[in-house]
Amino acid sequence: METQGWFSVQEFVPGTFQVTEGEENGFRFQSFLFLGERKALAVDGGLGVANLRKLYESITDLPIDFILTHTHWDHLVNSRGKGLLAEDRAAPARAMLKRIGLPLPEAFDLDAYEIRPCTFGWTLDEGDSFDIGGRRFRVFETPGHSHDSISLLDEKEGVLVTGDLVKPHHILFLQLPTSSLSDYGPSLRKLEAVAGEVKWICSGHTAPFDDPSILGEMAGFMEEIEAGGHEPPKKVDGDYWGIVDEYRAERFKVWIQDHARR
Ligand SMILES: [Zn+2]
Repeated sequence: METQGWFSVQEFVPGTFQVTEGEENGFRFQSFLFLGERKALAVDGGLGVANLRKLYESITDLPIDFILTHTHWDHLVNSRGKGLLAEDRAAPARAMLKRIGLPLPEAFDLDAYEIRPCTFGWTLDEGDSFDIGGRRFRVFETPGHSHDSISLLDEKEGVLVTGDLVKPHHILFLQLPTSSLSDYGPSLRKLEAVAGEVKWICSGHTAPFDDPSILGEMAGFMEEIEAGGHEPPKKVDGDYWGIVDEYRAERFKVWIQDHARR
């Protein structure tokens, strides 16, 4: 397997790979590969520190479709194409990688790090489903962490990929410019409605989690915050994001700034 001294790979369910980058200083960045009978599906594109396609082509000979859960930089850097995705966010991403202090591979030159433009071949909407051969996925629009977030449910193995919406035993980020508290609860309720089909909850930054009851728990907590419960929040140092309001639940925390409350 072409891990390039950077990726670690875990086949946590048959034909289902979690690819981890980092895993230092409290950070981990994850992408996923699902194998069907006709095609493989790659979900999210990671940091771009090493070549994800090379890794995936060492795992499977199937043609690979590629989907993003959302367009934050830490999920898309292996996306490559002709058009323009957005503005060049390489400079803040470089600063972030430096700040996190990950032990980067020797061949990687942080100063030359760039986030290249990419284009989308298709878009997915609420209620869509698609099949990669004996393996069907349903699509849910789940804004809250970011307005373009989707979640995917793999009907065969019960794997729910949530982007950064559901991060058990971690921090739910609503301090980002793209976050919205009023969207967060309804998105979680939408996923809670299919919790009976879910065996594993996967995110971009946490290990696969096997207790879907956390979906309702997080939804309830968000609704309480929105209704003015749990006040006053603790003011904490959100590192890169400055001072944030922090709410603590038993199995997760929430970071939020005022712009996301509007
Ligand atoms: Zn992320």
